[in-house]
Amino acid sequence: MLPFSYVRAGDAGTAIALVRASPDSAFLAGGTTEVDLVRQDVLRPGLLVDINDLPLDLIEDLPDGGLRIGALARMSDVARAPGVIERFPVISQALVLGASAQLRNMASMGGNLCQRVRCSYFRDAARAIGIDDFFLLPGDTPQREHPLEHGELITAIEVPGAPVARRSVYLKFRDRQSYEFALASVAAAVRIEDGTVTEVRLALGGVGTRPWRARRAEAALLGRPATGASLAEAARQELAAATPHPMNAFKVELAQRAIVRALTTLTDGDR
Ligand SMILES: Cc1cc2nc3c(=O)[nH]c(=O)nc-3n(C[C@H](O)[C@H](O)[C@H](O)COP(=O)(O)OP(=O)(O)OC[C@H]3O[C@@H](n4cnc5c(N)ncnc54)[C@H](O)[C@@H]3O)c2cc1C
Repeated sequence: MLPFSYVRAGDAGTAIALVRASPDSAFLAGGTTEVDLVRQDVLRPGLLVDINDLPLDLIEDLPDGGLRIGALARMSDVARAPGVIERFPVISQALVLGASAQLRNMASMGGNLCQRVRCSYFRDAARAIGIDDFFLLPGDTPQREHPLEHGELITAIEVPGAPVARRSVYLKFRDRQSYEFALASVAAAVRIEDGTVTEVRLALGGVGTRPWRARRAEAALLGRPATGASLAEAARQELAAATPHPMNAFKVELAQRAIVRALTTLTDGDR
């Protein structure tokens, strides 16, 4: 049994000050990652600062059609929010396919972004970090998975308006159908006009140390018809530079097939 202190913060300023004051402290939201890692003796915090009393659980519509998701909104609440289901089905689907129902009821969105190796948000309501810059590649600092400094608190996640996301899907391929992380997953959104791809967003999960935006495949598809051959070629180009290891080499083909399946699902009626 590891002794540690626990305090419930009443406001963000106090929470941040408490965590910043001691290097071995951490925020505690749903606890589904943090407590697990303490139990496994991976983390040994001296102080856990519970942030569940902070008013950070709202899911709000933004004027541009986007969303502002409070860092303490629970995965299950975000997944069933009407604005998410209607305008960002890919987000709703990805959340519903994560973890288990009990975990999703506890797990917060801020904590989800900060889970270890497997967040857009504000720092002190003053600094925003683009999601592309949030997840770091291992490089020379493999111990750092995101750019947050000790004591930085996520208050919300802003999802910009994206009409293309109305036609979006999330697919997850895993060893069993529930309660399992992805071997590979794909999030896709596409717009087709006159048979041609005019906008496309693709991202892969489970294939790298961070969520992987499939920009090569996006570039290969833009301006082209969404045929079986063009989808397969785009997927091939995306994975061409992958450097798998013997035990995960199967993921290259799995990821290519996942891209094709997601785009086929979205474009079936246009081909
Ligand atoms: C069995 C199991 C299966 C899972 N399957 C999936 C899955 O399929 N897909 C998936 O995406 N996730 C999965 N997860 C991970 C789960 O989604 C995360 O554990 C959860 O979202 C973390 O949120 P939390 O509120 O419980 O965070 P906590 O455990 O409370 O905190 C996690 C980390 O985030 C930090 N933190 C929390 N809130 C903030 C904040 N506002 N600002 C700054 N730092 C903060 C904490 O200090 C801590 O370091 C799974 C977890 C388990 C245990």
